Amino acid sequence: MPAAKPKPAPRPARKPAKRPRRASPAQAARIEALFSRFAQTAPDPRTELDFKNPYTLVVAVALSAQATDKMVNKATDKLFAVADNPADMVALGEEGLIPFIASIGLYRTKARNVIALSRILLDQYGGQVPLKREALQALPGVGRKTASVVLNELDIEPAIAVDTHVFRVAHRLKLSAGKTPDQVEHDLTAIIPKPYLTRAHHWLILHGRYVCVARKPKCAECVVADLCPSRELFLGA
Ligand code: SF4
Repeated sequence: MPAAKPKPAPRPARKPAKRPRRASPAQAARIEALFSRFAQTAPDPRTELDFKNPYTLVVAVALSAQATDKMVNKATDKLFAVADNPADMVALGEEGLIPFIASIGLYRTKARNVIALSRILLDQYGGQVPLKREALQALPGVGRKTASVVLNELDIEPAIAVDTHVFRVAHRLKLSAGKTPDQVEHDLTAIIPKPYLTRAHHWLILHGRYVCVARKPKCAECVVADLCPSRELFLGA
């Protein structure tokens, strides 16, 4: 008789997904005050990327990875004058597109992606941008972050795309201690009151870009300084 097989070792218990901690009443009141202040200061914040329609918004956001909005606007100002729809972009082709965007980082890859995504829009979506997250994210060069920016900007789905500015400001304002952009996004989405969610992405980006800058944050002119736990760190510096 063959020896009985040894029983497999029991599997370690699966770790439950980490939930964001619920804000204490004091923290919730501070967060409400923070975003209410942003709302009073800039009631209708918008992206600084120039675009003419959903298609040019997708292209502009895809081009903006690792590039400043100013650089992208300079390039798209001329590009969108000759190609502001998928058909014209495909007609321009990769080699025709490159001279317009050569001042932007990773321009060869971006040119390949823009032409490929334009072809897909023509072949599968009648030349329109699908305004659903899954379809958007499936386009070449359009990841979760780009899809979030597009859907948020077009008021289709409130979303927080965490870039370097949002990441820094979220930490300084003690809205998240997340170590990755995904964790910070998760925390922000959970704690920012719903009425502010669509605009929060812009407020945090613009605040990080112009006031709560990386090296020497301008705490003395910050509209939320009295609500910021990090202010003392920098005011004395
Ligand atoms: S007080 Fe200073 S550290 Fe805090 S959010 Fe404002 S600029 Fe940033």
